[in-house]
Amino acid sequence: MSTPVTLEAIRRAPKVLLHDHLDGGLRPKTVIELAEAVGYQELPSTDEATLAKWFRDAADSGSLVRYLETFAHTVAVMQTKDALVRVASECAQDLAADGVVYAEVRYAPELFEAGGLKLDEVVSALTEGFEQGSAAAESAGHRIRVGALLCAMRQNDRALEIAELAVRHRDAGVVGFDIAGPEDGFPPTRCQAAFDYLRDSNAHFTIHAGEAYGLPSIQEAVARCGTERIGHGLRIADDITVAEDGSVTLGRLAAYVRDRGIPLELCPSSNLQTGAAESFEKHPFGQLAGLGFRVTVNTDNRLMSGCTVSSEFDKLASTFDYGWDDIERFTLNAIESVFLDLDERTALIEDVIKPAYAALRA
Ligand SMILES: [Zn+2]
Repeated sequence: MSTPVTLEAIRRAPKVLLHDHLDGGLRPKTVIELAEAVGYQELPSTDEATLAKWFRDAADSGSLVRYLETFAHTVAVMQTKDALVRVASECAQDLAADGVVYAEVRYAPELFEAGGLKLDEVVSALTEGFEQGSAAAESAGHRIRVGALLCAMRQNDRALEIAELAVRHRDAGVVGFDIAGPEDGFPPTRCQAAFDYLRDSNAHFTIHAGEAYGLPSIQEAVARCGTERIGHGLRIADDITVAEDGSVTLGRLAAYVRDRGIPLELCPSSNLQTGAAESFEKHPFGQLAGLGFRVTVNTDNRLMSGCTVSSEFDKLASTFDYGWDDIERFTLNAIESVFLDLDERTALIEDVIKPAYAALRA
């Protein structure tokens, strides 16, 4: 008899995470301890439970701009080498304990320079932290591998510099590049020089698009910038028409994204908080999965959304009545979209993912 799909069982199943922000995933206790260590006085509370709730409530306001303000606190306590190593290490351990076997965790190095660290030192410290955390997780019985994605902040005009940083570190823990921050007013083509450089360097990148802003940002990311994946991308649903008789028509862009198998890094709980979707029931995840888009399940910001990869899968499973076949399919969608080389991907698929889901179904 197949194992029932419960949160506990999902936690034990191997999962792959493509879209998770390091500065959106700190443990509340760590925020408090790091703030104390550096004398940061601005935290709204120094009680762990109260602070955790404050992050969720502040992020719940319904606007992406307000949501991004919560990062002032996490970023403020991540300005020393020790703090960066600790945050990255705990991130790897928390994801591993949730059953994630491979994660691409992203962060913007330019946000961690205020304490005097240079960009290369920031990246080296975080790589060291991910390695430490992965080793600690393995000792605790959970094997994980973490690759980093370096984000450039769209509003800061440093995309080429950060893209060059990503390429410098690509054989040392960094697997790709992204642009993050406010979408509205900062279209992907503002960073065109960075994307051209990355393509010339045979380097990987994804682009946040179609979250706060609609189809034009997805169109630019795909057609002009040549992105390999789309961060969020849920607004691709705006290019899909459902007639009264239930028949579905895809616009040119939606058809291109689906037919080319361009991965969508969907993050449902985060979308509810920023107002990009109204509820799990109304989230386009179900429609996009049903139409054959390459959908993946992600957390975005675990602290602000109070979520884990497993809790996102659990909510999707109960909303859309997904079983292990679906959960495995979304996991395979994710592993086939990672920026790892083919040998490593294949090993994870054949040795870890497929046997585990076969056992859950047995
Ligand atoms: Zn994001």
